[in-house]
Parts: sequence; structure tokens; C-alpha cells
Amino acid sequence: MTECYCNVALPVPLRTTFTYAVPEALWAQVQPGTRVLVPFRKKAIVGVVVDLTTTTPAHTKIREIHKVLDLLPALTPKLLDLGQWIASYYLAPIGEVFRAMLPPVTELSLKRSVVLTEAGCVLAAKLKAGTTRNDLHGAEADFLQKLLEKKGELRLGQRGSLGITPEALQRMQRRGYLEIRETVQGRKRRMQRVVSWKDDKDASGALDEKEERIRALLQTERGPLPVPQILKLAQVSRAVIERMLRDGLLESWEEPIDPVEDSFDSGYTPAAHRLNDTQEAAFSAIRARFELAEFGVQLLHGVTGSGKTEVYLRSVQDTLARGKTAIILVPEIALTLWVGRQCRAWFGARFEGVAVLHSALSDVERAQEWWRVRNGAARVVVGTRSAIFAPLENLGLVIVDEEQEASYKQEETPRYHGRDVAIVRAKLENALALLGSATPSLETYHNAVNGKYELLTMAARVENRELAAVEIVDMRTDFQQTEKASPISRRLHDEIKACLSFHTQALVLINRRGYSWSVLCRSCGASVQCANCSISMTYHKFRNRLECHYCGSIQGVPKVCPKCQSQYVYFFGEGSEHLEERLRKEFAGARIARLDRDTARTKQQYQETLGAFASGALDILVGTQMLAKGHDFQRVTLVGVVYADSSLSLPDFRAAERTFQLLTQVAGRAGRGDLPGSVLIQTYFPEHYAVQDAVKQDYVSFYEREVHFRQMMMYPPFTSLANVIVRDTKLENAIGWSRQLSEYFAPHDGKGLRILGPASAPLARLKKEHRFQFLLKSPKKSLLTKVLSGALAFCDAKEIPQTAVLVDMDPLSLL
Ligand code: ADP
Ligand code: ZN
Ligand code: ZN
Repeated sequence: MTECYCNVALPVPLRTTFTYAVPEALWAQVQPGTRVLVPFRKKAIVGVVVDLTTTTPAHTKIREIHKVLDLLPALTPKLLDLGQWIASYYLAPIGEVFRAMLPPVTELSLKRSVVLTEAGCVLAAKLKAGTTRNDLHGAEADFLQKLLEKKGELRLGQRGSLGITPEALQRMQRRGYLEIRETVQGRKRRMQRVVSWKDDKDASGALDEKEERIRALLQTERGPLPVPQILKLAQVSRAVIERMLRDGLLESWEEPIDPVEDSFDSGYTPAAHRLNDTQEAAFSAIRARFELAEFGVQLLHGVTGSGKTEVYLRSVQDTLARGKTAIILVPEIALTLWVGRQCRAWFGARFEGVAVLHSALSDVERAQEWWRVRNGAARVVVGTRSAIFAPLENLGLVIVDEEQEASYKQEETPRYHGRDVAIVRAKLENALALLGSATPSLETYHNAVNGKYELLTMAARVENRELAAVEIVDMRTDFQQTEKASPISRRLHDEIKACLSFHTQALVLINRRGYSWSVLCRSCGASVQCANCSISMTYHKFRNRLECHYCGSIQGVPKVCPKCQSQYVYFFGEGSEHLEERLRKEFAGARIARLDRDTARTKQQYQETLGAFASGALDILVGTQMLAKGHDFQRVTLVGVVYADSSLSLPDFRAAERTFQLLTQVAGRAGRGDLPGSVLIQTYFPEHYAVQDAVKQDYVSFYEREVHFRQMMMYPPFTSLANVIVRDTKLENAIGWSRQLSEYFAPHDGKGLRILGPASAPLARLKKEHRFQFLLKSPKKSLLTKVLSGALAFCDAKEIPQTAVLVDMDPLSLL
């Protein structure tokens, strides 16, 4: 009898796959791409089958697969290939790559329980009999006895429900008295009871008022409804429904709960435009590419308001007409709202043809959308970064809107760039990658200029609308005149006032969230730092606490300086929360809302605020970056940018590019409708070329200057970069391993490759870990990859933990 084994990629930070035996009963179900539940150490975890084999593995203790999760393999063969490419290009563990590609596992739920060990049983019995003295705390001793009474096992529910702290549990676990066991259970689908009017019942009989309401709802107005909805709509009690069921007027059955239908769409009809000549020219170039039916990359460089979305939608339409499928990537969750709605209106018969994927969906919603795509129900996918992994088959087109956005780069393992993955996916699928932007990244534009990508240009706004007038407000002069260090200059104040009196809308942007950036001591000069990171804590007023924006840790608001105990602590630097408060004071009566990651966490919250602003129910919207790009608000006549240049002072060779992009994008939010718009950029560096070119909204001028600088300094696109971080909670380890690694790197330096470091990383401490950094530069990507994989193998040989060495290929941020 032959045996069957499979190699499984598991979501653990190890650059390898693991071999498991496939029980005969599961042979037919296990295929490459299938998700399986397997035992790993003391746990059960979900991994992806990479391949199958009948050769018996060399090592002895092969464990068996527990369970197969999919009927249809979750990952298509093309996606498996894409995952392999990502793992090798970004030098990332394959299991973590697949985890990033797949939706959250919602079919399973973990059951955790605390179990007494033998030693624990003995101790608990002795405690009960009072025959032992020990060093357990009272609560711990009580807990052991309670466990014994419950036959040695307790379900671990919400934290604290056991009457004992997690630390105490861990302490007793370390001392061998108990174990925490995880078992995985299948999750039941949530069901609901649906009620309908029994058709053969003649309604003319004597129905009372309530019954009549219910009949009208179920028989004529709405059809069958879930119980909670009828209760609400008909204003009746559950007892009425029960009685009518008993009397045979109604019938009922159980149904799985559907995702709520999107109220955001009701009453929306997309504008129907005829493409203008410029759009038509771009679109026919795209169609010409489709005709070739082969891989290609096009860059649609169109100024803000040139009508790129319309061109995207036609291209998707054309793709669908050819029997293929399409992905549209956008850089912000907020943008999926508009593009998703437009797509549903264009392509989604009963909203079925379109799926929307992003991280503000609940796990269940996300998994449901994902499987709709996998099962072929949706043929158009709109989403943020990870939507590039949407399991569409027969892909014809991938659009990456605002391709320059840093949010396409994932800043945790696997550190992939969504745009670059989009291009590789298009290549694997023989599809077209269409990158769009008003301010392309230097890399992309360089490729277009050199003919690697096809360049399509749309140089004017639709209907010959003017680009918004951009004006610089020099904050130094404002301070001299007003003698106030307010983040809202007098000029901006006056313009907002004008806006309010003309009943148009204003957007005010600030790139920091929270109330104050830092808490400082006037006496000793110290700022309150995160306990885990070398970063100042941000003060959040509403939540009344300090938060670290890097690791999420929180602290109470100090009354005295934690360092010198002086009472002279003060709050410095205004964030979005403070700015909102200030605007409410300065413009009492105006309708103001704020949109940032603190106010918008769920899809509903995004919809509420953005919907209200778009419909004119708000006058001023304050927000962070997420408002800077892509939105098409018709009644915005003023955009104010507070602290426009704070990105210029970052120690990063892309600082100028980022600032230029942000300011140009922001300027693009004003004057998009029939009303002309103006933009105020408040800055301390009015002379900087990034600011100047943004004022003129002159991309090509900026590109030429910047590309010259990059070439001189040997930065991308003229070279490839990789950033290597060595990290550990123990400083000695981080230093020791960096030293070892630098010995490996030394002989490679200078041979077609420059290696800088080790140096302390700009973020020297993060999440309790000390960090050291190497920067590798080479015009030859393959050389870079070779040296880096050598470095990782070297680390393995030296037993430097794989989690201690982070490789960031094509880094966007060098922090
Ligand atoms: P971009 O993404 O290039 O900044 P959008 O695609 O958001 O611009 O389009 C800007 C506005 O112009 C939208 O309100 C859109 O409905 C409108 N629009 C697009 N195409 C046309 C057209 N051919 N004629 C008139 N208006 C158009
Ligand atoms: Zn102090
Ligand atoms: Zn922190």
C-alpha cells in the first residue's frame, strides 16, 4: 500500500514547509492549495498544502493531518505560484505569505481550557487536606482546588472570568501544575428564523390590527422576513408572532444569516458621462492592449480631476465583456466605498458581481466576500492592498489606483509591495496591469519614460475645469503678525469663514492623529516615552490616556514628570483631535466631523462620516492622510493643509517625493465640481522645491529635478535597496548578532554591492526590541537577493533565530 504525504506551509516565522501524512480517508480531498488543520507542537493550526508526495520522508515522527477545510482548494495554482514568488523575492517565510493571501479562518473556533497536571492534582489534594505549606498565593491555591473540583478541567473564556490573572496562570504553568490546551472546533453557521405568510390563508377573515400589519408586510410589502425585523417593522411583540404561527397563519424556517445588504447604495445612480477626447484616447490605447491579449503594464498619468475613474470603469467593462475578470486596488479603505459603489452600480446585478475586500470588514464578512470570489460569484474585486490576492480566475485586468501610495507596502512580514505584486500577478495571468496616478512614483514614471511601461497621459481636468489655485501660507510670517502659534493661520481662518458663509465645504488636513504629539517636562526637558519603543507617547484627550502609535501600549496621563517629579508637564504639538476641538471653538455653529483612524474603524463609521460629508450634511471635515487622495467631493471649495511640510524633515531620501505627492494630491481635492477651488498650504519651508512644484502642480518638473538627485546619489530607481534589521529584546543579543552578520557581509562589500552598517536603527527600540540596521545597495537585484539569502543561511548556521533578522526588500521606510 502506498502512503501519501504532503508539504504544508504553516503561518510560523520559519522559512520552511512541514511534512504530514495524509490519512487514506482524506486522499481525495487534499490538493495543492487546500487548507488543512494540522498538529504543530502542542497546538493545532491551519496551513496550506504546497505539494503532495508518495516518497516516505527521511525523519521518523510524521504526524497526520487532522482535518481538511476546503472542498475547493482555497488557493488557485496561479496564486500558489504568486506566493512562491513573493516568498523568494521578499525572502519571507512561505507560510506567512500564504497567511497574508488568505482570508481569516472563520470556520473554526478555538476552545481553550486549563487542565491540571498530575503534579497539580497531587498539590491540590494536599492543599485541600491542609497537609502542605507552599509558596502559592492565596488566589492561586484557591484556583487549583477549584480545578480539582471541576474534574481537573476548566474552559478558558473571557479573560478574568476564572477569577485569576493570566500572569498567575502562566506562573503555575511554568511550575508544572497545569497546562493550557487548545482544541479547535468547527464553528456553526449563525442561523435565524424567517417567517412568511401562509399563502393559502385567506386574509379577508377577521384579522386584528396587529395581525393585519404583519400580513401587509409579509404578503404585499416585503415578503418573508427574519423575526427581529418583523418585530421592529410591525411594532409587535414576539408573542403575537408565536400565536399566529400556532394558528397556522404564518410559517417559519431556519436560514443562515446573510451579510447585511448595503444601505449605502440605496438611491445611488452613477453619473453617465461620455468620455471626452483625452479619456477616449487613453481608453483606446488600453483596448488596443486587450486586443493583444498578453501581459503588459500601462501607466495612466492623469492630473487630479482628469476623470481616471471613468476610464477604469470602461476598462473593467471591456474586460468583463471579453469573459475575463478584474481587480481594482485603491490605497485607502475610505476609497473602497466610492469605487465599490460605482462598480456595484455598473456591474453588479443584485450586487452579486462585485466583491469588496479590506480590513475594516469583520472576519466573517471578509471571509464571505473572499469565498464569493473563489466560488466565481463575483467577477470584479475592489479593495485595498491584500485584495491583489483575490482568488479570481481568468484575470484580465489589474488596476492600481494612486500607484505611488505608501499604503500599498506592507510593513510587516511578508513585506510586499501591492503594486509590484500586481504587476507580477498580471504577468503570471497574462493580464494587463494598469497603474494610475496624478503623481506617479519616481520608479514607475522612470519605467514609463524608458519604455518599459506604456505611458498614457491625461493633462487636463474634465470639462476644462481649472486646477485649484494653490497658495502658500508662510507660518513664520503668520506668527510675526498674529503673535499666536496657532495651527490655523489667520488666512486659513478667513477662508474657512468665507466657505461657511457661501455654504460650500472645507477639508482641513493634518497628518497626525491624537490630541498632542508629546508630553514634555519644562523642568528637565524629558518627554514621556513609550516603555517599549524609542518614541514619544501621543496624548488622546477623549480616551484620557497616552498611546504609543507604534506598539499600541497605553499609559495614564501623568500629573508630574515621570523622570524628575516636577509639576511642569505640558502638552506639545496639535494632532487631529485637538484641531477638531479648535475648529469647533473658532467656528461655533458649523457642522464639523473628524475622520482618522480613531474615529473610523468599521465600514459603518467610514460610511457615516464620508456619506454625511458627500451629501452636504457637514461643513468642515478634519482628517488625516486618508482624506488627501482620491475622493471626489463636488462641493469642496477649500482645502487647508496644516503642517504641510512635517514630512520634509524626516531622515529619508523619499521625503521630497512624499511631500510633493501629498500636496499635489491634496490640491486635487478642491474645485472638482462646478465651483472653483482654492488650496492653502501652511508651511515653514516655502522655498523647498517639493513645495514649489506642488504649488504649480507640475509633475514633470518635479520628476526631472528629483530623478537627477537620485541618479547622483545612487538611490532607486538607479539602484535596488534592501534594509536588514537585527533585533532582540536583549541588547547584547542584538549587538552580538549584528557583529556576526557584519562578518558575513564584509567580504561582499564593494563587489557590485554597497553595505552600510550595522548602525543603530532610527527607531532604535520598537516593541521592546533593540534594533540595528544594515542598508544594502546594488544596481543588480539578483546580486542583492543572492547575498541576502546567503546571509539568512549564515544566520541559520550560527543559530541566530530567524525572527531576529528582518529583511525588507525595496523598503519604503528606513525607520
Ligand atoms: P481623477 O480620479 O482623475 O482625479 P475622477 O475620475 O474622480 O478624477 O473624475 C473627476 C470628476 O469628473 C468626477 O466627478 C467624474 O464624475 C467627472 N467626469 C469624469 N469623466 C467625465 C466626462 N467625460 N465629462 C464630465 N465629467 C466627467
Ligand atoms: Zn522632568
Ligand atoms: Zn511603543
